[in-house]
Amino acid sequence: SWPQVNTVLPGPRSSELLARKDRVLQGPLRDGENVPFVLGQKHGHVIEDVDGNTFADHVSAWGAAPYGAQPPLVREAVNTAWDRYGMEISQYLSSEPVLSLAERLVEIAPGQITRVAPTVTGTEAVEGSVKLAREVTGRPIILGFLGQYHGESTYLTAAASTDLPSNTRGFAQYVPGVVLVPYPQSFRAPFHRGPGPYDDTLYLEYIREWVLRYQVEPDQVAGVLIEPVAGEAGILSPSQAFWDGLTAMCQEYDWKLILDEVQTGLGRCGTVFAAERWGLEPDLLLVGKGVTGGGQAVAGVLGTEEMMAGSAAHLGGTYAWEPAACAGALAGLDLLADGSVLSNVMALESIAREELGPLVGEVGQVGDVRWVGAWACLEFVTVADATEPAPEFQHAVHLAAMRRGVFAISEESKPLYRMQPALTMEPELFRWSCRQVADAIRE
Ligand code: PLP
Repeated sequence: SWPQVNTVLPGPRSSELLARKDRVLQGPLRDGENVPFVLGQKHGHVIEDVDGNTFADHVSAWGAAPYGAQPPLVREAVNTAWDRYGMEISQYLSSEPVLSLAERLVEIAPGQITRVAPTVTGTEAVEGSVKLAREVTGRPIILGFLGQYHGESTYLTAAASTDLPSNTRGFAQYVPGVVLVPYPQSFRAPFHRGPGPYDDTLYLEYIREWVLRYQVEPDQVAGVLIEPVAGEAGILSPSQAFWDGLTAMCQEYDWKLILDEVQTGLGRCGTVFAAERWGLEPDLLLVGKGVTGGGQAVAGVLGTEEMMAGSAAHLGGTYAWEPAACAGALAGLDLLADGSVLSNVMALESIAREELGPLVGEVGQVGDVRWVGAWACLEFVTVADATEPAPEFQHAVHLAAMRRGVFAISEESKPLYRMQPALTMEPELFRWSCRQVADAIRE
């Protein structure tokens, strides 16, 4: 039986809890007002709210639950390791799961990666990569891309800015050493508006000019911090021409390529790392979310010998790679190693193309539909002006889809609707969900 919603949203119990949330949690919360229910329980790919309504889960903890809720192998590995090791500080006292996880990641990483620096969160991994790049190169500046997301620390809020208003509110002014350039292939979203061109073949020259406009000497730039597919900006996926050009530019100026694969890594794009899709060989590669297997928090910086071996920079912290988290992550990597996960991801990609693709052209408010692997995004515009974002329409679609039992990602600051299921979601459930979303759009 398919997921089903039987109350108005929010239901009575959710309403009570949301009122408590408003009173006690600091805001503005990301997407706070957008989710009109409170989690009751979650199993596999289905969420049940506290009023007994059920939803197909197209959020998958924003990618941190890649195998659905409580995958048995991961649960068993976490519990066994916790029974054996308890909580331990791995940066001081090593244990086997920690070392095995590092070795496995080095084994499967693209390019010349030889070492790993453990962190708990993706944010710390990205911060750590900035620290390493600056330390190794002796250069202060990082090129970031507008529209990306790298985490909530002060530096990364400035160095990415999915949410341009947060930058205009002034976070960037606290943070020297960030130069933001627009992400390529920008489409209609307000935070991407402004000077073009967005043609990838011209784009690299544009970056060069942009850097000069900021009066940045290329030899002051330590590295380029970029998501291979910009997830929270709406599944923007640059072309091979862009990546080839960027790689050449990095070589020309000796900029380090820092790939943020916190979202894209470990299967989301249909390859183990998105870097493989474009033949990228990063100097530093950041993992999080997908690497956890859906168990406990694990993230980290993977790097080349040049970046990692000679550096005095230290990353980590008390909770970084505690043994049970590493055991869960290893179980997740075992699941990924079975090729059926990646073939399922590609099956989901085909379904998104078939079911959502035709909405462009058919429905005026659907400006664009994009998909990569187990990731799909609809971008809404007004019928009168296809460059004008349509937030009310987006909100209505999000609510209508939830009433039909589909829970996905829709943030108030962006005219995007993003479906990010677990890599293992059954194709039938994904197809059903896409059809509910299409009907919600037509309704
Ligand atoms: N980098 C990317 C691309 C992300 O999507 C995220 C989180 O959404 C992060 C970094 C930050 O990771 P975390 O939330 O674990 O700190």
